[in-house]
Amino acid sequence: MSNYFKSGLRLKLVALVVTGIVSAFTIFGIFQVQVQKQRISDEMRRSGQERVSMISEAVANLLVGYDYSNMESLAERIVQQQDVQNLIIRNRDDKVMVARNKPSLPDQTSLSFTAPVQFSGEVIGRVDLQISLARLETEINRIYLDVVLQQVFFGLFLGLLIYFAASHVIVKPIARISEHMKQILSSKFDSMPEELALVSNDEIGDFTRIFNNLNSKVFEAQQQLREKIDLAGSALMKTNDQLQQRSVELEQRTQDLEKALDLVEKLAVTDSLTDLRNRRYFDDNVAASFARAQRFNEPLSLILIDIDYFKNINDTYGHAAGDSILQALSHLFKSRTRETDISARLGGDEFAFLLYRANREDGLAFAQTLLQKAQQLKFTFHEHPVEVGLSIGIACNWDDIHSIEALYGAADEAMYEAKRRGRNQVIAYPFDIQPYGGLKSVKIEPKT
Ligand code: GH3
Ligand code: MG
Repeated sequence: MSNYFKSGLRLKLVALVVTGIVSAFTIFGIFQVQVQKQRISDEMRRSGQERVSMISEAVANLLVGYDYSNMESLAERIVQQQDVQNLIIRNRDDKVMVARNKPSLPDQTSLSFTAPVQFSGEVIGRVDLQISLARLETEINRIYLDVVLQQVFFGLFLGLLIYFAASHVIVKPIARISEHMKQILSSKFDSMPEELALVSNDEIGDFTRIFNNLNSKVFEAQQQLREKIDLAGSALMKTNDQLQQRSVELEQRTQDLEKALDLVEKLAVTDSLTDLRNRRYFDDNVAASFARAQRFNEPLSLILIDIDYFKNINDTYGHAAGDSILQALSHLFKSRTRETDISARLGGDEFAFLLYRANREDGLAFAQTLLQKAQQLKFTFHEHPVEVGLSIGIACNWDDIHSIEALYGAADEAMYEAKRRGRNQVIAYPFDIQPYGGLKSVKIEPKT
């Protein structure tokens, strides 16, 4: 029952039906009462006229006989009647013979009747009768009340009957559809919604059919949408997998390329036999280092090294023996190279060092150690011990050298001076201040 009055539609229905029926019944009742009132009023006029005529007949004999005492008692009796308010009897001269008034009914609405008093066809007087309408009005009011109460009662009763009937036929089916809608909405269309049973073949029936139809269409659309989303999702995942795979491949290829590039870069500046830097690298860096040293007025020494009688070694013990000497010397040179220095194989049996922040004396000391270490290397080819001699030339920018070409030229000159002076020694440019004496040159035995 609580659910019965919860719905706004039901309340509106009650209000509409009850108001409509009660209003219709009340208007009808009022019309009925008015008709009754008119009927009673007409009846009262007719009976009033009859009564005044009857009084005038009774008064005629009394007036002819001058029987005033009975006329007065007649008037008294008449006025005592409930609805009579006033009675006046006049003679032919219009003189009031008897006048009676009911003081208990003052100022009431009333009806006035008048009748001539006739005797043998001759008018001998007149009777005026005033009848109060108070009783009529009391009666009408009572009827009004009865009618209104009856109509309100029947209106309410009928209204409630119609309401319950309409509620059963209209509101209940709509509530059923709305409840079903709520259930379907909360189900998120995971399965085909249950069809709502058809209970009537009217507009609500149509509504139910449309509702069922709509549900199945929405479900179908939802299914199609899900399928499309699944398809798109799997396609997307596939693409994503492919992309990831491509990305891994790409990363791998990038790494390979970077490695290859590093190798190419390294190969471009590395001597393949000795793994030392090559001439190109050395030339590129010497220029930059020389410019920096000049700018900051720092000493920079270039050391050129040429193996003595290397051709002989090749010729005597073979090219492979020469290669192993080149590699062993390179290994030594590499181990003596500081981070700020550069060492390189310039080509053939020629090597170079660039010593940063090293003056002439530093260069000479370094080269001397290098020569001694090289001398300590022991080679044996064809069971013959072989010693390797180096001719080393040094030039430093602080010795009045202002260009990289001049530096190379001076170091070269110094190196050839070492050769000229008997090889296997260190000579610094300029040659006149030579603090280190040349070491004895090493003779390589010719191949027999
Ligand atoms: P010098 O004392 O005047 O320098 O005499 P040398 O015999 O060393 O003469 P030079 O410096 O002119 O000869 C260099 C030789 O180095 C010539 C060449 O046969 C040899 N040579 C050049 N490149 C290589 C190489 O890669 N491997 C080997 N084994 N020998 C090389
Ligand atoms: Mg040589």
